[in-house]
Amino acid sequence: MSKAARAHIAPGGSVGILGGGQLGRMMALAAAPLGYKVHIYCPDADSPAAQVADACTVAAYTDTAALAGFAQAVDVVTLEFENIPHHTVATLSEHVSVRPGWKALHISQNRLREKEFVTGLNIATAPYRAVGNRQELETAVAELGRPAILKTTELGYDGKGQIKIGPATDLTRAWEQMNGAGAVLEGFVAFSAEVSVVIARNLSGETACYCPVENRHTDHILDITIAPAPYGSGLMKTAGDIATRIAGALDYVGILAVEMFVTETGGILVNEIAPRPHNSGHWTLDACLVSQFEQAIRAVCNLPLGNPERHSDAEMKNLLGTDINGYLTALSRPDTALHLYGKHDARAGRKMGHVTRLFPKSGIRHHSLKNPPDP
Ligand code: AMP
Repeated sequence: MSKAARAHIAPGGSVGILGGGQLGRMMALAAAPLGYKVHIYCPDADSPAAQVADACTVAAYTDTAALAGFAQAVDVVTLEFENIPHHTVATLSEHVSVRPGWKALHISQNRLREKEFVTGLNIATAPYRAVGNRQELETAVAELGRPAILKTTELGYDGKGQIKIGPATDLTRAWEQMNGAGAVLEGFVAFSAEVSVVIARNLSGETACYCPVENRHTDHILDITIAPAPYGSGLMKTAGDIATRIAGALDYVGILAVEMFVTETGGILVNEIAPRPHNSGHWTLDACLVSQFEQAIRAVCNLPLGNPERHSDAEMKNLLGTDINGYLTALSRPDTALHLYGKHDARAGRKMGHVTRLFPKSGIRHHSLKNPPDP
């Protein structure tokens, strides 16, 4: 039987991961207790993931020979970031299954395709318009009003490639800042909260959905995740249902995150989907029996999925740049787990690690950010 046709990958097999960042590292660490080997493919030497993996291919994503060798060496390929070139997935797919597959990547790599896909499922997003030139920007701003947000359709993350169009923003300048990239204009959502749902789906179509969480950002970068999101059960059920419908419509295999806005009137709008483990799911490492990373391995190997129920409530805080120097404080707390990513250079804003603080599980916990997790 060819590798591509093999449905179940038994422990002892090798999981290939495209990308060498912290998400790949935590997937590799989760694969080990299940008895899998992990082989990282990444252009950088000494990546966080390679430090804890069995093997690593250091090569460009366009290196056809290196990709073919990698595909021969592993039983399935998954990924830890979505901007994998189409050529890479196509080359690998000739030899081995890539999960999630091209459809989910193709959609999530482009904000316009993503919004068309989500609205096509009758799931709401912020109002949006495609913008290909200065004139189209003017028309779109006239239609959606100010404030609005202009985003590059591709390769934007953590607020990069975004410009807020305020009352006085000069549209010619704003368009120039897009540097000729295709763009989408989004109406500004006066949200009352940002929430996300992380869901696993395996090849057999079985799903496991973690509770919706609230995400608080600073300077567009995730700062704190609160699990569960402290909102009513009706709203949270809707958020879970949205993620389940999106995963099903993508015929998704792996772990998927759906980021959403909760509007002031209690509606939910989908902002983004991420076809990989997500920063807002890191709390599952400590507050659930089966983390999002183990769930990703189970899903792509087509094993039964684990229980996504949390045994504790949790708050996860990212450690950015020199925040990492507070590691002794985190280690001194009996309710706090520390996860560091093995990165050497603590640049400002760089995700160096995270801490998760556990709380007794309760039905409704009204969170107060007056007591954020240390450090
Ligand atoms: P994104 O790169 O789309 O995830 O956006 C980064 C952050 O910018 C989000 O987490 C929000 O805090 C904010 N943001 C993005 N889109 C909008 C919008 N249409 N209205 C208001 N805030 C937004």
